[in-house]
Amino acid sequence: MPLKPIVTIPDPVLRKISEPVEKLTNEELKLIKDLEDTMYEANGIGLAAIQVGIPKRIVVIDVSKDAKFKKPNYFINPVIKSFSKETSIYEEGCLSIPETFIEIERPKNVLVEYIDIDGLKKEMKCEGLLSTCIQHEIEHCDGKLIIDYLSKLKKDFLIKKFSKNKSSNSKVIV
Ligand code: ZN
Repeated sequence: MPLKPIVTIPDPVLRKISEPVEKLTNEELKLIKDLEDTMYEANGIGLAAIQVGIPKRIVVIDVSKDAKFKKPNYFINPVIKSFSKETSIYEEGCLSIPETFIEIERPKNVLVEYIDIDGLKKEMKCEGLLSTCIQHEIEHCDGKLIIDYLSKLKKDFLIKKFSKNKSSNSKVIV
């Protein structure tokens, strides 16, 4: 399966709002496999299609942390139906923002509705790291990035840094 180059900031494609998938065709299924391979190769735990420049609401996640027993989850058109009042905080990284970790507080549990890889409508209760990860990836589908949680000053500083140094190719989580 071909690996796809991951788009990094400040590429404006990351700000695009991804379109829902109307029908799961071979094209989408191939894209899902490519996303999965690209995510594992980059040592990430989640990847949205927009991160390889394709504005479709497709997300692949594997938070199993066990390289031998991969447990990928495929979310097509994921939507958060409900979320807990209780929150949790993770230091989040992003494959599109190398070498940057930002502490973000999010709902601890979310109920996600999505289409699975067989084209069936499903719901999944996501907890802990999976909850944080699916929220992070759905934000990618809406053109939102973790740097948006920073103050304008810090955000501008980071964007400037990445605009100057486009050669960075380090790999980080998510
Ligand atoms: Zn990300």
